[in-house]
Parts: sequence; C-alpha cells; structure tokens
Amino acid sequence: MPYFDHNATTPLSPEAGNALAKALENAWHNPSSPYRASARVHRLLEEAREEVATVLKATTAEIIFTGGATEANNAVLSWAARELPAGKEMLVSRTEHPSVIEAAQFFFRDRLRWLDVDTNGLPDLEQLKAQLATGEVGLVAAMAANNETGVINPIAEIGAACRVAGAYYLCDASQWIGRLPAARIPANAFALGCAHKFGGPKGVGFLRVPTNVGGFRAAVGGEQEGGRRAGTENFPGIAAMVAALRFSELQETKDQTGWRDAFIAKVTGELSGVRVNGGGAPRLWNTVSLCMPEHENTRWVTRLDKAGFQVSTGSACATGSSAPSHVLAAMGLDPEEARRTIRISSGWETAREDWDALADVIVGLANGSW
Ligand code: PLP
Repeated sequence: MPYFDHNATTPLSPEAGNALAKALENAWHNPSSPYRASARVHRLLEEAREEVATVLKATTAEIIFTGGATEANNAVLSWAARELPAGKEMLVSRTEHPSVIEAAQFFFRDRLRWLDVDTNGLPDLEQLKAQLATGEVGLVAAMAANNETGVINPIAEIGAACRVAGAYYLCDASQWIGRLPAARIPANAFALGCAHKFGGPKGVGFLRVPTNVGGFRAAVGGEQEGGRRAGTENFPGIAAMVAALRFSELQETKDQTGWRDAFIAKVTGELSGVRVNGGGAPRLWNTVSLCMPEHENTRWVTRLDKAGFQVSTGSACATGSSAPSHVLAAMGLDPEEARRTIRISSGWETAREDWDALADVIVGLANGSW
C-alpha cells in the first residue's frame, strides 16, 4: 500500500533495521558500566556521536542524544526560560510544531511574542529584525521545514539575525534532517532531529547545543551525555538512527521534486479549485498540502485509505482534534479551507508510479460519486 504520511513517521529503513538488530544482540550493555563489554558500547556510542557531528558540521561536544524532538524542544525551552534574564522574552513563529508552541506557552507564559508568517507560511523577516532590535528578545524559535506544508524557512537569515542580536535560536529540524543536507542548519542554532522521520526508530533523536551555551541541562540525575541529559543512552536506537541518517544523507541527489510537481500539475490541471498551501514558497521535495475544493479532509483520508493510499489530514499530533490547523490559520486559511486540506508526504522508498497512481485516484474520486 503506497504510504504518503512520512511527515508523521517513516517505516524503518533496512539499514536502520540491520543496525538495530545487531546492536540489540551485541551492544546491549549499559555504556556507563565498568567492564569491557560496556566500554565497547561506550566507544560505539562515541563513534555514533562523531558521525552525527560530522553531518551537522559540528563538534562531538555539541551533540546530545535524546528521546526525540518533543523532548529536545521542551529541554531547550525550559532551560532558556530559566537562564534568560527576567527582561528577556521569547519570539516564536506561529507555524511551529505544538511541542514548541505549547512548551513556549508553558515555560515562558507572558514572556512570549509571536512571529507572523505570510500567506505562503514564510516568517516576516522585517518583524523578526525589529523584534530583535528591541534588545528584549533572548530566544527565537523558527523551524527548518514545516511538518504540515513542507514550507522551508529562511534559516540562514534567521540564524544570522539571531547571531548579530546575540539571541539564541531554536531550529526544530525534525522534518529537514534526512531530507535535506544537515550541514545547512545554522551553526549557532539549537538544532534537533528525530530518527523516526528519516527511517530510524521512534523515541530517539539528537540535539545540537551550540558551543557558546554553558550549563545546559536537558535532564538531571546522572552523568550521561556529559551530565547534560541524564538517563541510560538508548544505544541500539542511536545506532539505528545513525545508519538511517547515513543512508538519507547519501540520497540528496535523488529527491522527488519532479515527481511531486508532476502530481501537483495533474491534480490541479484536472480538478478546478484545488490549491497548494504554501505553493509560492520553497518546500520540501516530499510534501504537498492540498486544499481541496470540496469535502472534509477526514472524508478524503478515509476514501483514499480504502483505495489503498495512506495520507493525512495534517499534523499527526492534531489527529483527533476538531480544531482547524494553527499552521493553516496563520497562513490566512479560514477554518473551512483548513478542514478541506490533506497532507501528502513521501519518503525515499516512494516510487514515481506511487505519485502518479495517487494523482489518478484523487482525480477519479473527485470526479466520481461520494
Ligand atoms: N517537531 C516537528 C516539526 C515534528 O514534525 C514532530 C513530529 O511530529 C515533532 C517535533 C515531534 O517529534 P517526536 O515524535 O520525536 O517527539
């Protein structure tokens, strides 16, 4: 069954599956225990860290292994809320993932400012610079690529503006890592990725803590990860994540932009009133957010599921919630348009024929009887 919901999660890649099975069998000892088998796992863990650091063009000291992106976003925000002086506030983009927005509201409370986006979902850079110029913003959160629309933020410009202003930058790169080169994430950002978005297992990820940050603590209660994230490291998960990352970084030249654009051309050419959300912005090669001319997205998802295609209504975190997407609302869609939007997201194993077949089925369903 063609799977088009990779922004929710991806199947385990063969490379990751092999690494996971091998590590579960041969490298299961606690990396912190005092005998040779553990020392070996510790060494393998440090080699994994080196590999992540290399793809990010970072140093190994900057890399912390985590339990995924939600944990990392929460850790950065709770640390910043404690460490920033009382007069400093946080600026958060309106299209961030709930693990940033809700954590920002929880930890920063009334020290929160919003960064608006335009109708394509791109942040207002003038507003960003004006906010930074006040000297009152100590942290900016603006993700690398959006999970609902695939819209790519101008992260180099945002990173540079934060650097000049002396503000911290949180760049949630969960949807970017494994799809675009990790080395393009600005070096001054708290940058994070999670393995299950790029062919690795769930519940494992990494966080880059920039070199100028002292005293960072994600979790206390142990000396793991240099004392910055207590808790026994999930080495089998980390080994699988690194194998998936290695594979994904090698795929760079094989992106599916052309296949996706042919899909869009067919659907928009044959059905009137279909719109691509964020269509005027640079977007991930794997993602299309389509506002359909009629029918609620839940109905589309059910019909497509029955036809053999798994797509989504939007963020997996919002599934079950009747509230329209905050991302689409920030881009100016009304609640009714947001409820007609479906999200389609492919992966490295998706074939051109899958995209073509999905376009045919969508056109066929729209022209058929409901
Ligand atoms: N941030 C973004 C942009 C995401 O798309 C997701 C996953 O849905 C997350 C954070 C949460 O990731 P995790 O499931 O690893 O906690």
